[in-house]
Amino acid sequence: MLKKVFVLIIFLLMSRAEAGTWSPELRVGLMSGVKQVTLQVSAPCLMINAAKGSIEQKIPAGGSLIVDFEHLKINAIEIRPEKISLNDLHTTVDGKEYYGGITVNKEKDSLTVINLVPLEEYLRGVVSKEMSPSYPLEALKAQAVAARSFALKNRGRHVKEGYDLCSSTHCQVYIGVTNFDSINRAVDETRGEVLVYKEKLIDTNFHADSGGMTENVSEVWGTATPYLVAVREIVQLAKPWSIKVTTKDFSSRFGENFGNVKSVKLSKLTIGKSANDRTSSGRVKSAQIVGTKKTLTITGNDLRRKFSLPSTLFDMKLEGDEIIFTGYGSGHGVGMSQVGARDYAGNGWSYEKILAHYYSGAKLKKLY
Ligand SMILES: [Zn+2]
Repeated sequence: MLKKVFVLIIFLLMSRAEAGTWSPELRVGLMSGVKQVTLQVSAPCLMINAAKGSIEQKIPAGGSLIVDFEHLKINAIEIRPEKISLNDLHTTVDGKEYYGGITVNKEKDSLTVINLVPLEEYLRGVVSKEMSPSYPLEALKAQAVAARSFALKNRGRHVKEGYDLCSSTHCQVYIGVTNFDSINRAVDETRGEVLVYKEKLIDTNFHADSGGMTENVSEVWGTATPYLVAVREIVQLAKPWSIKVTTKDFSSRFGENFGNVKSVKLSKLTIGKSANDRTSSGRVKSAQIVGTKKTLTITGNDLRRKFSLPSTLFDMKLEGDEIIFTGYGSGHGVGMSQVGARDYAGNGWSYEKILAHYYSGAKLKKLY
């Protein structure tokens, strides 16, 4: 009996240790179209034929491996640790260090290199790029939950290329191994936590700075989502940005001959006040350029794109032969504002409260 209890205790301890370190394994695309890649592992590893599951070769700790398109006879190889968990392995890929192991797929005429990485490790290399590690801990925790939710919601979006997520801005920028205590704490203290709405993972869009009020997603991308609605910021410290464009430049960018630009028509910005030409947060829906030869109505998003404006929360005026944009914030304005999260955290808000503010009606859920 005693022996049985002892075995049970050992089993419970082991399963608790497992539960404490396990997280979903992601396949993150690092590079494609390359002919050769050099890998180096931090601990003893196995090189596995991914199709057959057979061990092709052992690689010692610190060992290097050059994978060359011309000489690779296997369609897909996996480098996984021999004894330790994937969490504890680091693999260097052409000199850059990543968490976890690697898969190399042989395509028609080149190689695709994919990082096999547990989600919680992946997040360390994402949050440290998305937010300054010097931001208050509660802001970093909010970012960690947003990035974790994004990764799981969008897992598999690159399935045709052989991986789950890419490592660039298209998905989330992932820079591999980083070592910031603040980031590690933010990830560890929110371990397994995601945002759900009606029990489904949500789109956790975020942006640099709302400039005073976030935006309804429908105003930016057309489709309404109940948890991505415009909310006001409490802290409004931002100084306006200003960008000048000559009327000549303006005409040439649009490929239009306005003649002489006589005026620009756009109602005055008040943050949080809508108008015919402004959304409920005050962002520009459209503005008119009135020339001697032509008048054109242009959307705020088009103006932002053409002139690399930080946001669509701006005023616009004509002065001589210059059109001057003066505005607030940076980014599309949908979801969490990173500067806002920093300021709320600085005012003593918890990450739960910050997330509830920016993702209306969404709930935190601990998945593991
Ligand atoms: Zn992507």
